[in-house]
Amino acid sequence: THFGFKTVDKDSKESLVGQVFSSVASKYDIMNDVMSFGIHRLWKDEFVNTLNPGRRAGSNEQLSFLDVAGGSGDIAFRILDNAKRRHGDVSSNMTVVDINPNMLAEGEKRAAAHPEYANDPRIKFLVQNAETLDQIPDESQDLYTVAFGIRNFTNIPKALETAHRVLKPGGVFACLEFSKVDNFILDQVYTQYSFNVIPMMGQIVAGDRDSYQYLVESIVRFPTQEKFAQMIQDAGFTLAGDGYKNLTFGVAAVHIGVKL
Ligand code: SAM
Repeated sequence: THFGFKTVDKDSKESLVGQVFSSVASKYDIMNDVMSFGIHRLWKDEFVNTLNPGRRAGSNEQLSFLDVAGGSGDIAFRILDNAKRRHGDVSSNMTVVDINPNMLAEGEKRAAAHPEYANDPRIKFLVQNAETLDQIPDESQDLYTVAFGIRNFTNIPKALETAHRVLKPGGVFACLEFSKVDNFILDQVYTQYSFNVIPMMGQIVAGDRDSYQYLVESIVRFPTQEKFAQMIQDAGFTLAGDGYKNLTFGVAAVHIGVKL
């Protein structure tokens, strides 16, 4: 198969994903900016804005946020910022988990350099596989986020069931991921760009063509918005409406499910 990775078994997929993210960890930000023309930042803003996490007026409960595949800390900091800025919430907790210690170290480094979150005991970083999350207790989390991570998981249904396990009743699962473009012309352009330009830029900017080739292929293999919404439902979540919102014509999409 020209997709190359289609036939890899579970262990080799995990180690392959490990290699890909170890190799991109330090160049991760610049490549994201180059490949998406900076748009990933707007998507992440929109994602967190839509969720609007933070303790609501009148409640004194501390919320527990869990950002899965959160390596860089990009989503985690936005969530804490939102909680503070829109709700005056400076007591809720954030756990950032990632399977890759190098990505996690990158996030920790950024937390340490962050004017607000350096030495903040509310933020924890844990090496964890999203499929098991064995250090996260049942029904312990209010919000589970995963951004640009889930398509790399070996067993997505298992990760969704685990998300369901760790959320409290009433807890929210939210995913930001590359998805399927819903505009014919744009899809042609996007496909050309993905297969021809991105691996080349990977070569030029990060000296690593293969990792970026893999990233492009993983986007192509990921299910459609509707199929993924169904998978979220199959894991036990309730969807609001059709369960997703497209960003930039479906280049990315946000899926949300609630554990009732
Ligand atoms: N969420 C961050 C962001 O949006 O900038 C990082 C996304 S990065 C593209 C994907 C992350 O998924 C990597 O850090 C990788 O190590 C992590 N990952 C892949 N498979 C995983 C798994 N099974 N469990 C936890 N994290 C995983």
